[in-house]
Amino acid sequence: MSYKIVKSNIPWATHGWNLVVGCLRGCPFCYAKGIVARYGAQWAEQEVGFRMSQRISCARVREDMSAFKPVIMRNRLNPIMPKKTAAIFCSVLSDPDYWPVEAMDPFYQVVRGNPWHLFMLLTKDGGAYYKWPDHANLIFGYTATDAESLKSQVVKKNIGNKEKTFLSLEPLHSAVGLPWLEQFDWVIVGPENGSRKGKVIPKVSWFEEIRDYCMEEGIPLFEKPEVARFVDRPLVQQYPEWQHSRTKPR
Ligand code: SF4
Repeated sequence: MSYKIVKSNIPWATHGWNLVVGCLRGCPFCYAKGIVARYGAQWAEQEVGFRMSQRISCARVREDMSAFKPVIMRNRLNPIMPKKTAAIFCSVLSDPDYWPVEAMDPFYQVVRGNPWHLFMLLTKDGGAYYKWPDHANLIFGYTATDAESLKSQVVKKNIGNKEKTFLSLEPLHSAVGLPWLEQFDWVIVGPENGSRKGKVIPKVSWFEEIRDYCMEEGIPLFEKPEVARFVDRPLVQQYPEWQHSRTKPR
């Protein structure tokens, strides 16, 4: 059965493509780990069945999936694409920092073959992108949660010098150095969700400073719906120009 890129409930992307499942970063509150714990066994069987049909090695697929280690889902390398232009988040259950090199060529083939779609990556370590070539419809995303991690991402971004980028300030855990925001084509911001012990409750001023700075400097800003719990005004939900400038041929 062909794998279909499905619609996403992530407010800043329209679709998700889980080409690589699993991650080695070991964040203490990993949302992806819970999803893979639930569906990983089923996905592993699908992947093993596909590899056996193609006579390629399926060694370690089940073990790696159950240990949340990165697995290239080869059965998802030729996906059925959305009919309309889409912004596809490609690292929902992984971090490109840990993508095996064998995943790169097939990934770029899909990116090149679908110039009317956007393909979006997101990493907690911008150094991951040094080895990734630019492409007109490939968007490099950087996550930061506080002033320190933002500074580190900016340093790495400037070394990697990527063409189209966005910054995800989520979950926001502190005020951030506002001038750093200018380094990105698009800023997304959101608070911490869930009910973990020690959850960071953001100050209203952190959101307002980011909003004011982006508006003054003309940086497109997308405030996630959850920001409405903290601010007493309409949310700003802007998109960069490249989100709307693509047309799929008939
Ligand atoms: S980087 Fe993302 S996928 Fe990897 S462990 Fe952290 S939260 Fe999970």
